[in-house]
Amino acid sequence: MTDCLFCRMVAKEIEPDVVYETKRVLAFKDLNPQGPVHILIIPKEHIPTINELKETHVQIAGEMMLAAQVVADQLGVAEKGFRLVMNCNKHGGQSVYHLHMHLIGGRQLDWPPG
Ligand code: 5GP
Ligand code: ZN
Repeated sequence: MTDCLFCRMVAKEIEPDVVYETKRVLAFKDLNPQGPVHILIIPKEHIPTINELKETHVQIAGEMMLAAQVVADQLGVAEKGFRLVMNCNKHGGQSVYHLHMHLIGGRQLDWPPG
């Protein structure tokens, strides 16, 4: 039993709306979408923030990006484009301390972000 929300999803104690899954990665719909498409891509392993990423995580970090590529294609935003975001700690706006990549698309996104 863990109090990490995303670990509980990996353990299937909580069942998010999964769009893609591999041995090491899970991708599911964000509860509070910031666009027509908003997916969270997480490693199944608990890594709190990008600050804790180690050399041994290089494979999983790459797999998260490849998962984003697959999901973007699957959900029809690959051609028009999308954004991948990883928030880190307070200034980055991180609220869930299990590494995750946001895939947001389906509308024109502004730059710079707020
Ligand atoms: P962060 O702010 O840490 O970068 O992103 C956390 C994301 O998790 C937010 O976009 C938030 O909407 C999403 N989130 C929080 N709780 C849940 C939940 O219970 N289920 C799902 N699917 N997403 C969640
Ligand atoms: Zn976790």
